Amino acid sequence: MLVSQGFDAALAGVLGLLIGSFLNVVIYRTPVMMYRDWLNDAVANLMSVKDMPSLWSLVFGPKAQPPAGLEAAADKAAVELEKLPRFDLMRPGSRCGSCGHEIRWYENIPVLSYLALRGRCGACKTRISPRYPLVELATAALFALCGHRFGLTPTGALWAAFAALLVCQFLIDFDTQFLPDSLNYLLLWLGLIGAAAGWTGTSLQLSVWGAVFGYLSLWLVYHGYLFVMKEEGMGQGDLKLLAALGAWLGADYLIAIILISSIVGAVLGLGMRFSGKLDKGVPIAFGPFLAGAGLVCLVIGPGVVKQWVPFAFPLGPWLH
Ligand SMILES: [Zn+2]
Repeated sequence: MLVSQGFDAALAGVLGLLIGSFLNVVIYRTPVMMYRDWLNDAVANLMSVKDMPSLWSLVFGPKAQPPAGLEAAADKAAVELEKLPRFDLMRPGSRCGSCGHEIRWYENIPVLSYLALRGRCGACKTRISPRYPLVELATAALFALCGHRFGLTPTGALWAAFAALLVCQFLIDFDTQFLPDSLNYLLLWLGLIGAAAGWTGTSLQLSVWGAVFGYLSLWLVYHGYLFVMKEEGMGQGDLKLLAALGAWLGADYLIAIILISSIVGAVLGLGMRFSGKLDKGVPIAFGPFLAGAGLVCLVIGPGVVKQWVPFAFPLGPWLH
């Protein structure tokens, strides 16, 4: 039993190193892909003015005409977008951000290549951020934990995917203040499907209510803040991320998730203040705290969360 647990953890850990290397690509490229999608959508919508001449008058009244030059501008933007080279998670290959040196396969071995290159680009010797190997090591540790706890089973694979997606959202929101829908929805769907299949340990009922109340609770906070302060207090992505966490852990965990996310926020905020990374007046996104809370729940185990903060489960008996 112990031997097989150790073997499962080691194998999952090695897989985690490789996936962690891929997550570095996801973290860097998903926001860029999202910005491209926004521009593509914006231009496609402007083009619809040409395809549907009545559109302007339907919105602005029968006599209204689209502003001069709108169609020409949309056409020009569409041509520029067409010219962009392909950019997704697979292509182009990874390059050094400084000199454009193409990263060879042997320069791309998780952690080891970073150590062998002493943290510098093989061509121009510019420093490579230690974040890359740290993401690989963190993903490896989380995967090893899932392998150890659940074995090489669908349950272990699902919770490893949960960890991987949260690592991405944590750093993407930290970097860009955005939580891409593509990753939020994948997390939400996997949580619901995992519950329906009986693989996450959360009943389908608690999972669905978790998604609903997770979204609704922050929706109320979002609109309350907007009403009182006349500005957005948090992003729409935070609502979707808490819905996804609710789908994985169940509605009864939502209060605990919020509590833990404020602790994560305090720890991160203090850490950044001491390292001089926190500029006063610059808003910190809420997403990293939520993603961090999800990871904390995974690492200490949902059952232990319930023991540590029993008062956060007042509705537990009614939600089953
Ligand atoms: Zn270079």
